[in-house]
Amino acid sequence: MIPVEFDYVAPDSLDEALTALRDGGEDAKVLAGGHSLIPLMKLRLAAPTLLVDLRRVQGLTGIQRENGHFRIGAMASHYAVSQEPGLGLAALAASTIADPQVRYRGTLGGTLAHGDPASDMPAILLAAEGSVTVRGAEGAREVAAADFFQDYLTTAVGEHEILTEIRLPAMDGYGFAYEKFNRRQEDWAMMAVGVMVSKAPDGSCADVRVGLTHMAGVPLRATEVEQALRGQSLSPEAIARASEAAAEGTDPPADLNASADYKRHLARVLCRRALETAAAAA
Ligand SMILES: Cc1cc2nc3c(=O)[nH]c(=O)nc-3n(C[C@H](O)[C@H](O)[C@H](O)COP(=O)(O)OP(=O)(O)OC[C@H]3O[C@@H](n4cnc5c(N)ncnc54)[C@H](O)[C@@H]3O)c2cc1C
Repeated sequence: MIPVEFDYVAPDSLDEALTALRDGGEDAKVLAGGHSLIPLMKLRLAAPTLLVDLRRVQGLTGIQRENGHFRIGAMASHYAVSQEPGLGLAALAASTIADPQVRYRGTLGGTLAHGDPASDMPAILLAAEGSVTVRGAEGAREVAAADFFQDYLTTAVGEHEILTEIRLPAMDGYGFAYEKFNRRQEDWAMMAVGVMVSKAPDGSCADVRVGLTHMAGVPLRATEVEQALRGQSLSPEAIARASEAAAEGTDPPADLNASADYKRHLARVLCRRALETAAAAA
C-alpha cells in the first residue's frame, strides 16, 4: 500500500534533527534504516506527518572500543555490527538478522528504539548489561538496558528524543552462543536465546548471562538459569538441570508459528544447547 502523505527532512547535525523533531510536533518521527517504520507506514499502521532522516547526521555510525566498552553509533548498520569480532555475541546475533539488504540498511539504534520483542538485539543489550545514550532538548542521558525496554514497542526514548549511542561492555574471555529458532534461515525469531559464559581457573562458572528473545512483550533475562549456574560446575548435567528453568517468569506470545507452550519448550532446549556451546568456547 501507499503511505499517507508526509513531509521529509534530512538535517546535517544532531541539533538540527532535534529542532526538526520538536517543531514537527507529536506526529514527527525519526527515520533510521526505515526497515520497520516504512513497512508500518505502508500498512498504514503508522502515519507520521514528518520524517526526520538521520542518515546525514555526522558521528552516528562509528564503532570504537574505549575503557573496556564498545561505543556504537546509533546509525551503525546491523552489517557493521556483525563485522566487529570484538563484539562477540552482539556480532553473532546481528549476523542472523534477515538478509544482507536488511542488514545493510537496518540500524542498531533503530532496532533498539523500536522495541519489537521479536528483534534479535534487545536481549543481547540486556544480557550484556549495556546502556544507551538518549539526547533531547534538555541534554543527554544514559539509560541502562534494564530500564530501557518498558513494554511492547515502548522504550525509554521520549517523544522528541534521539537515541545516539549504544554502550556494550567488552565481554573479553566469555564464550558465547546464539540459538535462534525460525522456520527459514532469514525469518524473524520464533524465539531465541543468547548466552555468554566465563570460567573460573578451576573450570567452574564464574559468570553467565542468558538473554531471551520473544518470550514476553520485552526482552528478558533467564535469571533463574544464571543463578543456578554461577559459581557451579558447567558439566552437561548441571547445564541440563539449570536449563529447565529457562522459561520461568516468561509470558511468550502465541502466534501463527508457535503456541506459548511450544516457545517455553524451545527456551529450555535452546538454552541448554547455547550454554553447552558457550561453555565449551569460554
Ligand atoms: C524483511 C525484514 C526482515 C527482518 N528480520 C529481522 C530479524 O530477523 N531480526 C531483527 O532483529 N530484525 C529484523 N528486521 C527489522 C530490522 O532489524 C530493522 O532494521 C529494525 O527493526 C529497525 O531498524 P531501522 O534502522 O530500520 O529503524 P526504522 O525503521 O527507521 O525505525 C524504527 C523505529 O525506531 C525509531 N528510531 C529509529 N532510530 C532511532 C533513533 N536513533 N532514535 C530514536 N528513535 C529512532 C523510528 O522513529 C521508528 O519508530 C527485519 C526487517 C525486514 C524489513
